[in-house]
Amino acid sequence: MAPSPTSPRYNWSLEEVEALFALPLNDLLFKAHSIHRENFDPNAVQVSTLLSIKTGACPEDCKYCPQSGHYNTGLAKEQLMEVQKVLQQAKAAKDTGASRFCMGAAWKSPSKKDFPAVLEMVKGVKSLGLETCMTLGMLDKDQAKELSSAGLDYYNHNLDTSPEYYDQIITTRSYQDRLDTLSHVRDAGMKICSGGILGMGEQETDRAKMLIQLSRLAPHPESVPINMLVKVEGTPMDQVEDLDPIDFVRTIAVARIMMPESHVRLSAGREEMSDEMQAMTFFAGANSIFYGERLLTTANPQADKDRQLFSRLGIHPERREAPVDEATHEAALKEAITEQKNGEMFYDASQTNLSEAGRERKPCGLVV
Ligand code: SF4
Repeated sequence: MAPSPTSPRYNWSLEEVEALFALPLNDLLFKAHSIHRENFDPNAVQVSTLLSIKTGACPEDCKYCPQSGHYNTGLAKEQLMEVQKVLQQAKAAKDTGASRFCMGAAWKSPSKKDFPAVLEMVKGVKSLGLETCMTLGMLDKDQAKELSSAGLDYYNHNLDTSPEYYDQIITTRSYQDRLDTLSHVRDAGMKICSGGILGMGEQETDRAKMLIQLSRLAPHPESVPINMLVKVEGTPMDQVEDLDPIDFVRTIAVARIMMPESHVRLSAGREEMSDEMQAMTFFAGANSIFYGERLLTTANPQADKDRQLFSRLGIHPERREAPVDEATHEAALKEAITEQKNGEMFYDASQTNLSEAGRERKPCGLVV
């Protein structure tokens, strides 16, 4: 039997994908939106919240990233955050409507010393009834298995760009390293979050080739973040030419067509997009965002802005299938915090001089 037009495919050719990019915009949007409607509630957007659990001093040289130790961007370096604080932030995120809590660390890969604390974070956040996601750099097979056993639902590891353009962006880890990590994540039974960054001086054909790489992962990544470069002074990319916003929307639409069952996420760079552009990307098939930039219980202006936008567009946050009730959440949080205080993992940040300001930054150059 011939596959239906929207069945996931893993064999897109460059010719086919370039033909999608070349469609008149209205035709492309119509096609993408039709496929989107067949697979998702068109008015639901999945909402995640992100916390940087270890900021700066990364040994990798990703040219877009203010957290790379190779560039002087004035970013405060911070040690791994204490487990208790992570759990408090997770609870705050849940209270602001997040269904998934993403934790990111600026590492080449997790060290033996820090890994037990990371596992405790996963268990604690999971016990609050949130989906868990982490981005910690490269993983080996055993690390992937341990994270999966601790309850990690998603692992983020982006391909960033096409294999051909990749060495213009990063030289300290290879494209194959990235594919290997994704393979370990999948083999360990976790869901994959993987996408890339647009506006780094790449050509349209690089965007097409990056999407082809993502679409060759079988099954497709459950989450595909499409980032717009955030130019940060001090990084080699701070002067790169702006990407045409229409080209960004086109890429979202092509991603939706190629990976019809994946959540396509508007990620870094969203704060710089107009409401109208965001509305267009939702129509083109984007259905996941990070909600606000701060996870504190105090006012969250970005989250308020997002709520207003959702209201104006008639969009609602996608709901989890099996929500955990409030009392269970509270009990789990208290228990997790008590356990942490009594355990070896508890680390009292009040005894350090770590800057809290850096915690507001997203990990991996704002690109999960
Ligand atoms: S993008 Fe991630 S791996 Fe690359 S320098 Fe930034 S923190 Fe390190």
